[in-house]
Amino acid sequence: MNSEYLQAVIRQVLVDDLGLILPHEHLFTDLRGPHVPDYAQADPDHVVRVMKPFLQQAEQAGVTALVECSTVGVGRNIPVLQCLAEQTSIHLIAPTGVYRDAYVPKSLKEMSIAELAENWIGDIEIGMDGTGIRAGFIKLAVSDDGITPLEARNLQAAVIASQRTGVVIASHTIGGRLFQDEIEILGSKGMDLQRFIWVHANSEKDKRKHLEAARLGVFVEFDAIGADWQSQEELLDFTLALIEAGFSDHILLSHDAGWYQPGSPGGSPEAGIRGFTDLVTEFIPKLHSLGVSENEVEIITQKNPARAFAIFKGA
Ligand SMILES: [Zn+2]
Repeated sequence: MNSEYLQAVIRQVLVDDLGLILPHEHLFTDLRGPHVPDYAQADPDHVVRVMKPFLQQAEQAGVTALVECSTVGVGRNIPVLQCLAEQTSIHLIAPTGVYRDAYVPKSLKEMSIAELAENWIGDIEIGMDGTGIRAGFIKLAVSDDGITPLEARNLQAAVIASQRTGVVIASHTIGGRLFQDEIEILGSKGMDLQRFIWVHANSEKDKRKHLEAARLGVFVEFDAIGADWQSQEELLDFTLALIEAGFSDHILLSHDAGWYQPGSPGGSPEAGIRGFTDLVTEFIPKLHSLGVSENEVEIITQKNPARAFAIFKGA
């Protein structure tokens, strides 16, 4: 019996009670950022009406938990997530943390590393935005053209919060160069890299960089499954390369799909809302056809995300 758990929006869920987990998706996202007047606002009932069919499809496909990666600065709205969580048997995991520099709300800009860490520890141990709903992980992002001083502060605060609470840090990181810069900052603070997820690792086209990251203990996340802007053949190739090199247990797969967009007509982003089932209906069958075993698929889509998002109490 494994007593590690995931902190979901409504309850804590034992790892043993979970099957397939999607480690990077979006239900409610506001990419306009926190500086617009109606930022992250919407009628929760409307959000439920729009997003529930997508959750139902995911449920039918066997998804047992879904990680909401819309962090502070890009629309995190706890009452909306709570309403969605009440309407589905899929466990929803909510983030603390903050998006990249341009999206950091004023209230967080002036905080010291220690103050920010305390703020995030409060989100994880007590609850977010005055609710009793706790965050299950820390979601960050670094700017695509280089880590800014504010983002370096965020990374350092996240290390403190992760070390104190046991939650994983997932960071939007475009390309291997930025990843290197990032782990240098994390390493300088004594971060255990097994508690770090390289989000959007598929943005790095050199497979050797994925291998190097896996070797360091990092979770390497390929999170553009079913996206029309990402070659799915390439994602299969990236995934197979890590499996063949013996790093199955460092791979995470997700769609980075969704979402309800506040301020848009009908809540739909321009490109429409993308669902959460391609992994099951398209990608896994292709992995099997390329010789990947049932057991390996289970490691990648169940055991790895469970281990990533599990909270190791007292560790
Ligand atoms: Zn995302």
